[in-house]
Amino acid sequence: MALSKLTFTDDLLGLLPHEIEPLFLAINEPAYKAKQLFIGMHRDGANSALEISTIKKATREHFSNNYQMKTLEMGQVKVSADGTRKYQFTTHDGHTIESVFIPHAAKAGRHSLCISSQVGCAMGCTFCATAALKLVRNLHASEIVAQVYQVAKDILKNADKNDLMLDDQLRPIHNIVFMGMGEPLHNFDNVVRAIELLTHPFGSAFSPRRITVSTSGIVPKITELGEKTGVYLAVSLNATTNEVRNIIMPINNKWRIEELLNACKAFPLKIRERITFEYVLLKGINDSEEDAHRLAFLLKNMKCKINLIPFNEHPLSPYKRPDEATTLLFHNILYRAHLSVFTRKTRGDDIDAACGMLGAKKLELKRIESVL
Ligand code: SAH
Ligand code: SF4
Repeated sequence: MALSKLTFTDDLLGLLPHEIEPLFLAINEPAYKAKQLFIGMHRDGANSALEISTIKKATREHFSNNYQMKTLEMGQVKVSADGTRKYQFTTHDGHTIESVFIPHAAKAGRHSLCISSQVGCAMGCTFCATAALKLVRNLHASEIVAQVYQVAKDILKNADKNDLMLDDQLRPIHNIVFMGMGEPLHNFDNVVRAIELLTHPFGSAFSPRRITVSTSGIVPKITELGEKTGVYLAVSLNATTNEVRNIIMPINNKWRIEELLNACKAFPLKIRERITFEYVLLKGINDSEEDAHRLAFLLKNMKCKINLIPFNEHPLSPYKRPDEATTLLFHNILYRAHLSVFTRKTRGDDIDAACGMLGAKKLELKRIESVL
């Protein structure tokens, strides 16, 4: 079967085992070998069929010659003083994307990877550096999972140097968050497929409960995500009135806060599970005491936790970060309203790896080049 006949993800790394089986049958080899190929790519992190030694040489060459694997080329890795590692990857067609590894300083088995789902983003949130790139293209499912496999390999290679605490199974990544570049629910099919690949028992076998998809609020897709996957949901709320949210998150003009919260209320949760609401604090825009009270009112009776994210300032945006006293007051109002609230510590800001900073440097450079 030629690659052109594969329509959905159009490369080997994006295929599930049952989709690889016909490729073996077509060359008169048993279907069960699909499992070996899948394990080679998704558990062992092979970048080419040629690296999969459990398959005989002629077959490896057949797959290497006849099918693509849209993997990523690892570029610069920046390491922050706090251990956060920002990875730059180049896609097969020359685009740059970024992933951020956030180690848990104190606990083994709690390291997270923040991955990208698109090159740029179409949502146009006025505070976000990625928005300024606009949407260049969706990532394929293979490009989404390749971020996980490549970072895992790099971490294992550097584990001693990093003094990283690994768990008994030596798994370098425990939580995957779709909070990098892009709006995951705007690239829904590839994101769902990437989740299927990451959670497949023959592959890296992530529990869906260790995967969080963060969205700006594409309401119908929130419902579909709940139906099709078992992952956690994070919602970037960022405002307490439609007037403000319409301005800072233009998606709100399509699906308003009430509709968004109704979709969240209907999202399937097991006992003790909660939705995360992210709230970026922007000085003078959404950080008042009234906002905090309104937020408490909007979220009361919801199974949720709130992550307050003090704005990470960048030259592409006019907004400012509120001072610590304002942030603390906001936090305490929510706390006193019996909400579960966390103020997120900025990680990796010395390497521009903090929330909303991905892609910022590239744009700054472009800007400087256009002035020169
Ligand atoms: N598109 C998805 C996921 C990527 S953005 C979403 O919007 O949820 C991940 C998080 O970064 C979002 O909660 C967003 O509100 C936040 N963010 C964006 N720019 C930021 C900035 N400059 N400072 C702090 N948080 C920011
Ligand atoms: Fe896109 Fe999320 Fe940034 Fe909004 S905050 S522009 S949805 S990446």
